[in-house]
Amino acid sequence: MDLAGALANIGVSLAKARENAPLASPRLTLMGVSKGHGAEAIENAIELGVFVFGENRVQEAEGKWPDIKKRHPKVILHLIGPLQTNKIKQALELFDVIQTLDRPKLAEEIARHMDGKEIKTRQFYIQVNTGEEEQKAGVSPKEADDFIAYCTGELKLPVAGLMCIPPVDDLPGPHFALLRQIALKHNLPELSMGMSDDFETAVRLGSTCVRIGRALFGERPE
Ligand SMILES: *Cc1c(COP(=O)(O)O)cnc(C)c1O
Repeated sequence: MDLAGALANIGVSLAKARENAPLASPRLTLMGVSKGHGAEAIENAIELGVFVFGENRVQEAEGKWPDIKKRHPKVILHLIGPLQTNKIKQALELFDVIQTLDRPKLAEEIARHMDGKEIKTRQFYIQVNTGEEEQKAGVSPKEADDFIAYCTGELKLPVAGLMCIPPVDDLPGPHFALLRQIALKHNLPELSMGMSDDFETAVRLGSTCVRIGRALFGERPE
């Protein structure tokens, strides 16, 4: 299917998901996850009205996004993959939002860089490893309260919300509900949850940002 058709289908699914869903958020951003795709696909999406994008690797994003941003200054770019401390400066100069704040060392290093002139990042989300999976990034739900307080209080980072990626073999609903509970407790307005296979559930549970790759762009080229 072409991009316009895929986008229309997603729009219908999003609207359906919000029907009879008292927890659904009135604000909802559709993020196009463009990892693995080139500038042409991204520009096609921009022409169709997508204006928020997500990339999961700093290096890949550095290769294609500076040019696209020059041509489309209003487009917003989020980092949704793990950030190594040696890439902090590049990431802060490229991404408008970093969704993967996930450990004290990273938060401290970011805080030290935040007053630089070239810094673009305006918002952070904290990634919560709701399934407590060993191989997955994110703070565990048990540590989330302290970590959020540390980032917003001591480090004064502009934390706007939380992000999670549920375990592939679990029903996603309980993970989204847990993320929502933690965000409510801390008055954080943004909930980045929901991908191609589970975005309807995420929307019903209050997502403010669905991160959609395959359902929009098709399978990723290798
Ligand atoms: C790749 C990726 C997505 C998009 O996944 P799809 O299943 O292609 O929609 C969303 N979030 C993160 C963190 C990703 O790495």
